[in-house]
Amino acid sequence: MRGNARSPLRNDRLNRRSFLTITGIATGATILGAAPASRLVYAAALTRAQRDKLTPDDIIALMKKGNQRFRLGQESPHDYLAQQRAAAKGQYPAAVILSCIDSRAPAETVMDLGIGDCFNARVAGNIANDDILGSMEFACKLAGAKVVLVMGHTACGAIKGAIDKAELGNLTGLLARIRPAVEATQYQGERSAKNYGFVDAVARKNVELTMADIRRRSAVLADLETSRAIKIVGAMYNLETGVVDFFG
Ligand SMILES: [Zn+2]
Repeated sequence: MRGNARSPLRNDRLNRRSFLTITGIATGATILGAAPASRLVYAAALTRAQRDKLTPDDIIALMKKGNQRFRLGQESPHDYLAQQRAAAKGQYPAAVILSCIDSRAPAETVMDLGIGDCFNARVAGNIANDDILGSMEFACKLAGAKVVLVMGHTACGAIKGAIDKAELGNLTGLLARIRPAVEATQYQGERSAKNYGFVDAVARKNVELTMADIRRRSAVLADLETSRAIKIVGAMYNLETGVVDFFG
């Protein structure tokens, strides 16, 4: 029964051979995940062996392909109950994602990921603090994730709040962590929260500074990256187009 619950990170070249053997469908169909027969051959959750075979670049490529499926309306036919049952015995996530709490930017959904595929830390403005760094260190050093993805998004309310120097309870301190990105953003034009061009430029700079922050403040993650065990990358999710644009 689990075979009906293909998780998208299994939708990769590791499984293509068995997929092709069974279905005889040309290479390329698996990338888009459109063939119903493919549901018969994928395991419900990433196994340790599958995850360990993937390189950081493989995982980034799979996330890009998942975003492509999302944009084309060709998401994997998730059987969440089967994924839940399979993952209950143990987890072998391939990546840890740091993304914003924005309800319109759910990383797993927009990259067509399943239960057990990735860790996801969410905080307004996707900034790193000590607890999030600790979570990432757990994800990579102890649990074996190979990609750290910091994903910002367009039209981010936290970024707008930081630009406007909004003040509200504990939010004031959070927005202060984003302020360096506002100051560091070079931009020709109106530097206001009403100008979405500026807001999105600050959001991207904020992702870059967060990546630098991770490397500077986490010796554990910096060492893993230096030894090529992991990759730390950034991305911007576009609310209008659905595109996750990777960089870094
Ligand atoms: Zn946001």
